[in-house]
Amino acid sequence: MTFTVAIVGRPNVGKSTLFNRLIGRKLAIVHDQPGITRDRRDGDASLLGLDFRVVDTAGFEDETDDSIEARMRRQTDRAVADADVALLLIDARAGVTPLDRHFADHLRRQRTPVILVANKCEGKAGAPGLYECYALGLGEPVPVSAEHGEGLLELFEALLPHARKAGVRFADEIEEEERLAAEEAAARGETEAATEGEGDEVIDPAPEPGRPLTMVIVGRPNVGKSTLINQLLGEERMLTGPEAGLTRDAIGVEWTHQGRAMKLVDTAGLRRKAQIHDAVEKLSVGNTLESIRRAEVVVLVMDAAQILDKQDLTILRLIVEEGRAVVIAINKWDTVDQPQQALGRLRDRLETSAPQIKGVRTVTLSALTGRGLDRLMDAVIESWTVWNRRVPTARLNRWLAEMLDRHPPPALPGGRRYKIRYMTQIKGRPPTFALFATRPDELPESYQRYLVNGLRDAFDLQGVPIRLYVRGGR
Ligand code: GDP
Ligand code: GDP
Repeated sequence: MTFTVAIVGRPNVGKSTLFNRLIGRKLAIVHDQPGITRDRRDGDASLLGLDFRVVDTAGFEDETDDSIEARMRRQTDRAVADADVALLLIDARAGVTPLDRHFADHLRRQRTPVILVANKCEGKAGAPGLYECYALGLGEPVPVSAEHGEGLLELFEALLPHARKAGVRFADEIEEEERLAAEEAAARGETEAATEGEGDEVIDPAPEPGRPLTMVIVGRPNVGKSTLINQLLGEERMLTGPEAGLTRDAIGVEWTHQGRAMKLVDTAGLRRKAQIHDAVEKLSVGNTLESIRRAEVVVLVMDAAQILDKQDLTILRLIVEEGRAVVIAINKWDTVDQPQQALGRLRDRLETSAPQIKGVRTVTLSALTGRGLDRLMDAVIESWTVWNRRVPTARLNRWLAEMLDRHPPPALPGGRRYKIRYMTQIKGRPPTFALFATRPDELPESYQRYLVNGLRDAFDLQGVPIRLYVRGGR
């Protein structure tokens, strides 16, 4: 069964616009509903890797003489009955109208869960309508702009629990689970064998020849991303002769930095940047996420005058969720009066606000003058190395024994001992570990944190997300 989402609402709220946005305007895939009652169209939609079927009810009201309410209700009911979840759109610019209220009342009585979506929220235009729609009794609205493609990450987040309930799994999850299952099978009964013959030193795999390190530069508007990119490429050009070292393709710019093939992933956002410069431009989370997904190392640029605001933390969360290596670039350092003090404050803030990437490489620089660029590139390469790092199983399990010795896991109810058997690194990029234990569900979060922090310190895994899966096994 395909996860199905119906878009409903009164005329002109933007149902078709959202529909087209979700199917990526690939009108070829729009399935015409043959038959007498052409009351909707549906298509294959994709939102940040979540694939689903979307049903649009716009413009297909039947042509009886009933009241508009009655006609729309019929049309809506047909679409909603087949859907896993309904998106009730309202026009946040116009505010909540009696017809919206009528719709909300009607939908609340249906079985299908409803997500309230406040459309036309680009800029601040939607604000008044946003407050009004709480009164519809359908919970918190998701503000979006179908026309400008804003709020899609939030929409994705709202859809996700419903998709999970409908049994949706992502391709990378399936892959991950298969890998884990294989690893689990290998680990079973082969603990000794697996640890023999392997070296004892941490391995930092060399880059594959010709395969560039892909990096991307992200951050809020106006922190200096474009300036940094120009400076970076300008400098490389100077080092390698006019244009000689730089090659462009559809995805980005490539060059060689101290013998290392590098690629700066260029995104739609970056490209547009050169032409438009809007001081009030908002951070586009969708674009940022897309960029993050394309890169191995993400450089998150912040303005020295305003580090780690809410948007910075949002981006950081995305980077960690996507499992990328990260370097924080504190730009406009030339404007800072007391660098030493500022640096101290910065470290404190990072420590408290971003514990998931403890020890993240932080570089202060000035994109304007070019100071600090070499340190930035060093940090990018180091970060990539750590992100790829492999810890041999024997070494890992010796370390684990010490950790368990120092702080045994808390006892289970009834005083029985919690048994941790074995640990292995499943993969790098980011470093991902499987811990085999008797009762995987009962190992407290705090104990897992203890192990993850320990891993980070013992094997110098600073500044990259670490994944730990606790698995069952005999
Ligand atoms: P439907 O009747 O609900 O399918 O609405 P449409 O998709 O046809 O949109 C109605 C009008 O609203 C059109 O003029 C759209 O261009 C406009 N519209 C749709 N989404 C947005 C949006 O996010 N912001 C703004 N400002 N206008 C939008
Ligand atoms: P973007 O929106 O992140 O791409 O930011 P821009 O690169 O367009 O820079 C925004 C503004 O900050 C511009 O006026 C830049 O000249 C200025 N800027 C960028 N980097 C620096 C820097 O290192 N120091 C100073 N003082 N200003 C900078």
